[in-house]
Amino acid sequence: MTSNARYIFVTGGVTSSLGKGIISASLGMLLQARGFTVTIQKFDPYINIDPGTLNPYEHGECFVTDDGAETDLDLGHYERFLNIRTSQANNITTGRIYNNVITRERKGEFLGKTVQVIPHITDEIKRNIYLLGETGLYDFIITEIGGSVGDIESLPFIEAVRQVRWDLGSNHSLVIHLTLIPYLKAAKELKTKPTQHSVKKLLEEGVQPDILVCRTEMPLPMEIRKKVGLFCNVQLNSVIEAIDVDTIYDVPLLMRKEKLDERVMAKMKVTSKHDPELEEWKTFLGKLKNPADEIRIGLVGKYVSLPDAYKSIAEAFIHGGSANDCKVNLKWISSEEITKENVATILNGLHGVLVAPGFGERGLEGKIEAIKYVRENKIPFLGICLGMQCAVVEFSRNVLGLAASTTELDPKTKHPVIDMMEDQKKITTKGGTMRLGSYECKLKKGSKTAAAYEEGMIQERHRHRYEFNNKYLEQIEEAGLKAVGINPESGLVEVVELKDHPWFVGVQFHPELKSTVLNPHPLFVKFIEAGINYKKLNP
Ligand code: GLN
Repeated sequence: MTSNARYIFVTGGVTSSLGKGIISASLGMLLQARGFTVTIQKFDPYINIDPGTLNPYEHGECFVTDDGAETDLDLGHYERFLNIRTSQANNITTGRIYNNVITRERKGEFLGKTVQVIPHITDEIKRNIYLLGETGLYDFIITEIGGSVGDIESLPFIEAVRQVRWDLGSNHSLVIHLTLIPYLKAAKELKTKPTQHSVKKLLEEGVQPDILVCRTEMPLPMEIRKKVGLFCNVQLNSVIEAIDVDTIYDVPLLMRKEKLDERVMAKMKVTSKHDPELEEWKTFLGKLKNPADEIRIGLVGKYVSLPDAYKSIAEAFIHGGSANDCKVNLKWISSEEITKENVATILNGLHGVLVAPGFGERGLEGKIEAIKYVRENKIPFLGICLGMQCAVVEFSRNVLGLAASTTELDPKTKHPVIDMMEDQKKITTKGGTMRLGSYECKLKKGSKTAAAYEEGMIQERHRHRYEFNNKYLEQIEEAGLKAVGINPESGLVEVVELKDHPWFVGVQFHPELKSTVLNPHPLFVKFIEAGINYKKLNP
C-alpha cells in the first residue's frame, strides 16, 4: 500500500433497512467537518452488474453519477451529506467483481490455475476496496457492505474485509457493525440477543467489530450497553446508540453526541486539527425544523407507492425548502389515476406540480392531463426527463393541434415530437446503454432557468433514450414553448420554458441528483419560491 488512507468498513446485522447508508454518510460528514478528506463506497452483493436494470419498486431509485454509472441510491446519500461527487468506483456489485475476474480468465491471465472464490474473487474485491485509497486523495475511505451478515452472498466481501484487517492492522482499518436492539412491548424490555447473534456470525466469519452502532426506538440504559459490550467484545464507549429521529439529517449530530467520530479517531490513532465545523449544517436543520411558510406540491409519477423510487427528488425538496424557509408537503399522485374529469379535483389546493421521470408508462395520459391543467391555470410546474417530454407532447397536442406523441409510447405516431436518437436505435442491449451521466448545457440569457443557475453554461446528469425532436423545434418555439437550454455539442434540447407563465420549466436532465444539503439545487429553490408566490396570490 502506497497511500496512507484509512479504511472503515460498515456492516449490518439482524435485519436490512437499518440505515447503513445514513450512518456511513453521517460518519463521513463528521470526519470531513473535522478537516479530513473522505469518500464512501458501497459494495452490493447481488449479481446484476449494476442496479440500472432493477425495478424501482424493488430497489428504489437508480442514482446516476457524473461519469454515467447507474448506482445504488445510497450514493445519493453520500453526495447529499458530504457534498462530494461519486463515480463508478464508488459502487461495486458481485456481478461486476465476477465479470472482471471472468473476463481476465478468458484472456488467459490465470493460465494453468483453477479460478476460485478465494483468492481470485476476494483479491478482486480487495483491489476495488483499495482503488479509491490509492488515488492518494483521501484520508478515509468508508466502505459500506450491502446486505446482512450471514447472507450467503455477502460472505466473500466479509472475507475480504477480514483480509484487509489482517493486511493493514488496526490503525488503518476498522469495522463498524450496525445492529438492532428491539423493544418488546409486551415484556417492556430492550432485547440484546439479536445483536449478540449477529456479532457471533461476524466472528464466525473471522471479523471482530470495533464499534457497534445500535438502532433502537428507546434510549439504551447503561446496563444494556454493558451487556452488549461484554458479550460482543466491544468497549463500553464503543457501543453507540442510534435512536430513531425525525429526519435523516439529524443523524450526523446524533452520532456526534454519541462520539462516533471520536471513537473512530481514537481507535485509528489519528487526531484532527479542530472539532467538527457544523454551523452550516445546523443552520440548514434549524430552518428545516422551524419553517416560516408551508406549501403543497404534487408529485405525479408511476411509482408513488414506493417513495424510495423518487428519493433524490424528495430530498431535493427538503434542501430547497430549507433554503426558502418553507416546508414542502408532497402529495404523491399516481399518474394512472388522473383523467380529464378528475384532474381539477386531484390538483386542487396544490401550489406546484412536479411531473416525475419514468419509463414505458401506462400513466402517460394522466401526466399529460396534469400538465395541461397547470399550464392553463398558471400553476408552477417542473417536468423532469419524462416529465419534460410529456410537457412537449401536451403542448404539441393542445396548443399546436398536432396528433403528437413520444415514440416510446406510440412508435407509429404521426408527429413524433419526442423520438429516439439515431445512435440509440442501433442499440439492442439494455444495461448501461442510455444517454448517461453529465453533459453540458448552454442556457439562453434572460430565461428563468439561466436566472436560477446564475450561469450560462451548466453540467447536469442524464438517464434516458428519447429526445426532443428538433424537426418540431421552430413550430413549438413559435407557439410559445421555448428551448432555453441546448447541448452545445449535439444541439439537443435540454430545457424548455413556457412564455407567459409564472414558472413552467421542463428539463431533459435530472437536477435532483445534484442537490445537496450545502448546495440546494437552484431549480428546486426557484420552483419552491414560485410555489410560495403562487400561494400568496391564491390563498
Ligand atoms: N423514458 C424516457 C426516456 O428514456 C424518460 C427517461 C426518464 O425519465 N429518466 O427517454
